[in-house]
Amino acid sequence: MNNSKCGFIGIVGRPNVGKSTLMNHLLLKPISITSEKPQTTRHRIVGIKTFDNTQLVFVDTPGMHIEAKKAMNRYMNKVAVGALFDVDVVLWVVEALRFTEEDEAVFKRIEQVTVPVILLINKIDKVKDKKALLPFIASMQKKLAFQDIIPISAEKNDNLDALLNRITPLLPEQPFFYETDQETDRPIKFRIAEIIREKLMRGLGQELPYELTVEIEQMKEEEGKMHIHSIIWVERDGQKKIIIGTKGEKLKAMATSARLDIKALLNQPVHLVVWVKIKASWSDDERALKSLGYDETD
Ligand code: GDP
Ligand code: MG
Repeated sequence: MNNSKCGFIGIVGRPNVGKSTLMNHLLLKPISITSEKPQTTRHRIVGIKTFDNTQLVFVDTPGMHIEAKKAMNRYMNKVAVGALFDVDVVLWVVEALRFTEEDEAVFKRIEQVTVPVILLINKIDKVKDKKALLPFIASMQKKLAFQDIIPISAEKNDNLDALLNRITPLLPEQPFFYETDQETDRPIKFRIAEIIREKLMRGLGQELPYELTVEIEQMKEEEGKMHIHSIIWVERDGQKKIIIGTKGEKLKAMATSARLDIKALLNQPVHLVVWVKIKASWSDDERALKSLGYDETD
């Protein structure tokens, strides 16, 4: 294709500012899981949007944390920081009227970025008096020469078209990296495991074991129906009990919700089996992390 444009756009920021929601709403598809809890996104997740002669490759990242004591948190930080330096544009997401210590820590990294940085002030739907945004914008303007500062609401799709229009001219002229119909770089098993993890993140309260992970053990198609065996790995028996709930009700509700999303993703009937198993302190063991697929080099 002549004069096609293609580029990588890193989405970074502290946990919970709405990075994954933003990516999904830009793509008009749920590619990256979201919840009201921090640390929902654990990996670098690519979401691809192709139109006309343009391909936008968004890179959603885990939120950056200050404290990274556990192997899992160190891994997540490494992934997030990596996305600042191998992209063509950086979208730094903050929350309207809230600039925390964690945002300041992210800013220290943003200062070192050499490509254009667009600052996105998200969740403006929560701000009743929009005039209150002006001093916030002014204080952010002083911090760095941003390419743009755009107030948005990822959830309500406010200003997302304007954002796309600002990103496109910043992309290099080069051939597409991915097929025009490709949505993500993640394999289907990963996406299914993530859907199950999303339901757990959303369905469990503050007692949610952050260390849980989901593994797809088997996928087999029979007579048009996809049979999926999955395992939720936790660290302790108490966590297993929380997930299963009284008479298994909690697990059943979460599994049903997951099955419906998986059915929509695969566009076929789904039989989903979910087991909860205990694996001692895997989140603090680099070797165990690797065996569960938390080993990325890209
Ligand atoms: P991430 O950790 O930065 O990826 O954040 P998520 O995308 O998982 O979103 C964190 C929480 O913020 C979720 O409960 C979202 O529904 C919510 N959220 C994201 N964008 C908006 C927004 O524009 N407005 C409001 N009110 N909530 C939002
Ligand atoms: Mg996220």
